[in-house]
Amino acid sequence: MSGIALILAGHGSHISANTAGVVWDCVDRLRRLGIADEITACFWKEAPAFSQVLDTVEAEDVVVVPLFTARGYFTGEVLPSEMGLEGPLTEQRKRRIHLTPTIGEHRILDSIVDERLRETFKRYDLPAQATAVAVIGHGTRRVRQSQDTARQQADRIREAGWVNEVVAVYLDDDPDIPSIYCSTRSPNIIALPYFLADGSHVSLDLPWALGITGSGTAERVNGRTVYTCDPVGADATICEVILALARDTGLPFAPESVASPWERFPAAGRSALLQALEAGRILHFGQVSVSPERVWRRDSTEQSRSFATPAELRSHLREIPFRPLPTSADLPDGWHVDLERSHDAHAVLETIYPGLVADWAAQAAGRLSTESLEEVAKRQAGMFKDIHKLTRAVIKKTMHQVCRDCIRQPTWWNDLVASDNALPCRSACNLWLSMARKIGETL
Ligand code: SF4
Repeated sequence: MSGIALILAGHGSHISANTAGVVWDCVDRLRRLGIADEITACFWKEAPAFSQVLDTVEAEDVVVVPLFTARGYFTGEVLPSEMGLEGPLTEQRKRRIHLTPTIGEHRILDSIVDERLRETFKRYDLPAQATAVAVIGHGTRRVRQSQDTARQQADRIREAGWVNEVVAVYLDDDPDIPSIYCSTRSPNIIALPYFLADGSHVSLDLPWALGITGSGTAERVNGRTVYTCDPVGADATICEVILALARDTGLPFAPESVASPWERFPAAGRSALLQALEAGRILHFGQVSVSPERVWRRDSTEQSRSFATPAELRSHLREIPFRPLPTSADLPDGWHVDLERSHDAHAVLETIYPGLVADWAAQAAGRLSTESLEEVAKRQAGMFKDIHKLTRAVIKKTMHQVCRDCIRQPTWWNDLVASDNALPCRSACNLWLSMARKIGETL
């Protein structure tokens, strides 16, 4: 084992492509820079999961950078628990795993915040003496520390003294967002989302709480005019923050030229896949076929369009309509990737089905370990902590509703008789857990 892996940890979403999309954009940019041997993402709500991503990389040193704008419940409790981390440095199975602070705690964010405000003042020609700034953070009543970064930004802007009023408010804590109409008096309000992405919180929850449509233009509310900025994470500078945090571990993250956009992917399972391809066979993974020359949608009925980069392919397959579960059996048709090197087949498959090849190879080698619902429940502190108490009827109904439309089979469920060549699933995914909880409340 050698080398360095960089893993970007995000929240993900079941309803918005943008939440994880921002994280994948950063992964693509960092891979092109060639700054680590393996670069990937992981999510709470999407694949690859926090709990599974470490098995997709082979490096001896792994750096996990949380793409969250505040240290809080997810970065302080969920992420370490799901990944088995003990703090900033964990020795785990002969590898070192470094967990950095969140991107929201890094001072480079100050310049992004200032730039967002300057742009808005200039675009609408706003007078500073008649304008209030509301820095909007997520916050959570579970961990008050999650208020810190948004509040520190508000304090910093206030101390700079160039705007009339500055407040910090929170989506999920007090002071809440509507309070800005009482706590400020300026006729103009700039709402600055201290969020990573233009996901459902920014596009739906914030406008609702502000009483605006979220159309992106200035809107009148309670006799005031509200101007909304883009979220701070939607900025190319975020990659600089990620690199600064990764380098703070003391590991070298030096750019190297990369010959192909299909380089620097997580490596687990790659040699097994290439060996299988060398035998000259066409392999099938769910709805995808792979040969040494091409990867394509199996049983394609539409005219096929060629894709040459991970970003283009991912966008085509996951965004319209948004598919939160990459292994759901509704993979869009009409595409293929011609391979310059058979070696790239692994990266293409990893783009389509993140984490699947690692599990497939582990199963073929007899090394796949599964996790029961009891084991999943043990590392939960939040909404899934009682997931092991689900009745058999709820489990069966959830299997029917969720797993029936997935190309994996729930290997983690003891009662399952897997079909031949079934693609494994070693632990209930977040979509399954969320649906099971809902079904449990109704049955
Ligand atoms: S739990 Fe079911 S739906 Fe989720 S990944 Fe596994 S097999 Fe697919």
